[in-house]
Amino acid sequence: MTDDLTLGSPPAKKKFALWAKILIGMLLGVLVGLLFKETAVELKPIGTLFINAIKMLIVPLVFCSLVSGVTSMQDSQKLGRIGIKAFCLYLATTFVAIAVGLAFSIIAEPGVGLNMVATAVESQQVSSPSIIQTFLNLIPTNPVDALASGNILQIIIFALFFGVALNLCGDKGRLAIDLIDSLAEGTYKLTGMVMTLAPYGVFGLMAWTTGKYGLDVLLPLLKVVLLIYLACIFHVLFVYAPIIRIFAKLNPLRYLKGVVNPAFVGFSTCSSSGTLPITIKAAREEMGVSKGISSFVLPLGATINMDGTAIYQGVAAVFIAQAFGIDLSTGDYFTIIVTATLASIGTASVPGAGLIMLSLIFTSIGLPLEGLAIIAGVDRILDMARTTVNVCGDLMVSLLVAKSEKEIDEDVFNKSAT
Ligand code: ASP
Repeated sequence: MTDDLTLGSPPAKKKFALWAKILIGMLLGVLVGLLFKETAVELKPIGTLFINAIKMLIVPLVFCSLVSGVTSMQDSQKLGRIGIKAFCLYLATTFVAIAVGLAFSIIAEPGVGLNMVATAVESQQVSSPSIIQTFLNLIPTNPVDALASGNILQIIIFALFFGVALNLCGDKGRLAIDLIDSLAEGTYKLTGMVMTLAPYGVFGLMAWTTGKYGLDVLLPLLKVVLLIYLACIFHVLFVYAPIIRIFAKLNPLRYLKGVVNPAFVGFSTCSSSGTLPITIKAAREEMGVSKGISSFVLPLGATINMDGTAIYQGVAAVFIAQAFGIDLSTGDYFTIIVTATLASIGTASVPGAGLIMLSLIFTSIGLPLEGLAIIAGVDRILDMARTTVNVCGDLMVSLLVAKSEKEIDEDVFNKSAT
């Protein structure tokens, strides 16, 4: 299903593709932010309007599309297999991501010579929830409450069970399945409509970000910012793209083309769960991933998969250790890898969540929490890169799972660009 809002769909009349409009919005936003600083900050409500419009879609979209996806897959064994595959791939790619982050910062040594002095700063310390508690919290005691509060993991669990139950109802479940299918179609259409706002929303968000965190904040930490951006680009081009070529036997360039819209939205909103409706739309319409896989694997990824955040945590930990002249042992690196991989499951996919989880990593290896304040100054700029990778990682895994389950329409995936 495509409509005229999608990247690569044949234009009825000569007009810009959506991604080009978003790019223009982004560049104009940066320009306005740099030129008008304080005034540009006032443009944030335009971005907030766009973010709110996407957020409005998340709960109905995830619920309806997941139930509709499950009911289109009658085989419950297959469902379990897809879940396990996605989960393992998400963990494995996060593991690689943190290794990439560590390697980049060990080689480039962004913090060496900074000789930073600790100042008394209030830091937010986070303790990891117990494994049993995390597990128990997966089951919503009140699904309406889970829907109302937007608890994505609980919504996923309820929708999965509900979908399987409807499958088992036979003819008696038909009415509910048709109704939810139709509601899901409505939410997809609405996503397309909201996407027409993207260029304006991205403009407002970029003007605000650049106005607020412009060059003055950026320059002192330029090296670490550049390093995180480089590591993120490296991860997409040299980890995701080869995986797609080698394991999914698909053209990575098509993947890179397909991720453009969600990547722009992730970059400017800094929320991978906020980008979810756009990610699901791209998986289906640009990459040919089936309804069943995209509606299950992507919400799961938006919740538990944070490769960009893992890269950032690796770089930030080594950067702060270097800046404060602390030597990290092999055991420390191992602790960073394990903690960051597990922490990514518990990181909320909202702006700034990675910074809060960074305190967990710092605590686990005894780094000064004052370091958080140093990173915090540029965190929004770093969040833009890591959220983009988080979104690209979710899409990469959904492609891999779809290909392995023969649930991908390769004609859609390979369709030529406008
Ligand atoms: N903003 C990121 C996301 O939504 C999470 C983070 O802060 O690292 O994916």
